[in-house]
Amino acid sequence: MQSNGRFFSKSQVSQLSAPLKTCSFTSDSSARCFFFLLLLHRNLVALLSMAEFVGRPFFSCRNCRKPVALADDILSRKFRAKWGPAYMFTNAMNVVVGRTQERQLMTGVFAVADVYCSNCHEEMGWKYVRAHDPKQKHKEGRFVIDLSKIVKEY
Ligand SMILES: [Zn+2]
Repeated sequence: MQSNGRFFSKSQVSQLSAPLKTCSFTSDSSARCFFFLLLLHRNLVALLSMAEFVGRPFFSCRNCRKPVALADDILSRKFRAKWGPAYMFTNAMNVVVGRTQERQLMTGVFAVADVYCSNCHEEMGWKYVRAHDPKQKHKEGRFVIDLSKIVKEY
């Protein structure tokens, strides 16, 4: 089995296929069979999402190393945040979004919410919640993360 250039270990493969061997479609074991299939499905989903993540560069919290954003999700590298240069991402993960407030930024007034690492609560940057200028609407829902708060991982 191969995915994104990474091999699954033998134990992972046997762990996944074990429920299939013990699963038969007799009436008394159908409940158990359903349970095993559910377990198999969960394992597969976990492994596939892991495989999707592995091999793709991402950024993690500089403080606790929790993954914060995928390098693939960078929309712009020309941002400045509270502490210095920052990137705008289409999405962020493992973050907590704070209270929405109106803020005057370089490109106008926006409703923004500060964003914190969900693990160590370090402030990371902000999320654009609403843009008042129609020309700035494309920023809504995007995340600006300060480069001094993240490290790139491969
Ligand atoms: Zn953190």
